[in-house]
Amino acid sequence: MRLSWSTWPELEARIKASPAVVIPIGSNEQHGPTGLLGTDWMCPEIIAHAAHAKGDLLVGPTFNVGMAQHHLGFPGSISLRPSTMIAALRDWSISLAGHGLTRIYFLNGHGGNVATIEAAFSEIYSEASWRGEKRGFALKLKNWWDLPGVAKLCEELYPKGHGSHATPSEIAVTQFAYPDAIKTANYAPEIAPTGPIREASDFRARYPDGRMGSHPALASPEGGRRIVETAVAGLIADVAAFANEPTP
Ligand SMILES: [Zn+2]
Repeated sequence: MRLSWSTWPELEARIKASPAVVIPIGSNEQHGPTGLLGTDWMCPEIIAHAAHAKGDLLVGPTFNVGMAQHHLGFPGSISLRPSTMIAALRDWSISLAGHGLTRIYFLNGHGGNVATIEAAFSEIYSEASWRGEKRGFALKLKNWWDLPGVAKLCEELYPKGHGSHATPSEIAVTQFAYPDAIKTANYAPEIAPTGPIREASDFRARYPDGRMGSHPALASPEGGRRIVETAVAGLIADVAAFANEPTP
């Protein structure tokens, strides 16, 4: 079931059956010369929607702008500062939990979001503690590339040139879902440099075309199909375990 395509009576009935909701979460930021700006929110959304087609999941709206300050040197990137993102995640979570969706599973597509999402969880749990809320309210963060089997498959598909930004795996997932939006370029060097992540002007100087350690030409729609298929199986099992986790 997709929250945005449902009515409130349908939601009310669904919440009585299960308190779990999946929120795809990502970022809108440059992904090298050929990666779509929406790559990091598209990947978790593609996987969550494919899982929804196969399993019994409630998928909420996608949280599609994240903490991406280091990409602001490239046109099209949009960033929330960590404190804004924490406040927004708090408001989303409290809204959902107020309706009885007390198991909120964030399927993340952007490494730069991780620290902020975890800080948001601490903030939200702190408030619940002070309010003396009843047990069972739970938040979970899972990066799509950490779903069972995905990292192993990506190693097999891209033993060299996977890198950490504008990776062939994430680009393959978008190519599988949106084949009409595939772009090509001559990458020079083939495999991009690696190094630290600091502020936006430093990032652009170190990584002139926006990639980090990756060779996106390795991506293909077929590789993306295999990644999505593997991730979907892992997501369905992981969300079911989270939804049914007993309250102590
Ligand atoms: Zn990305």
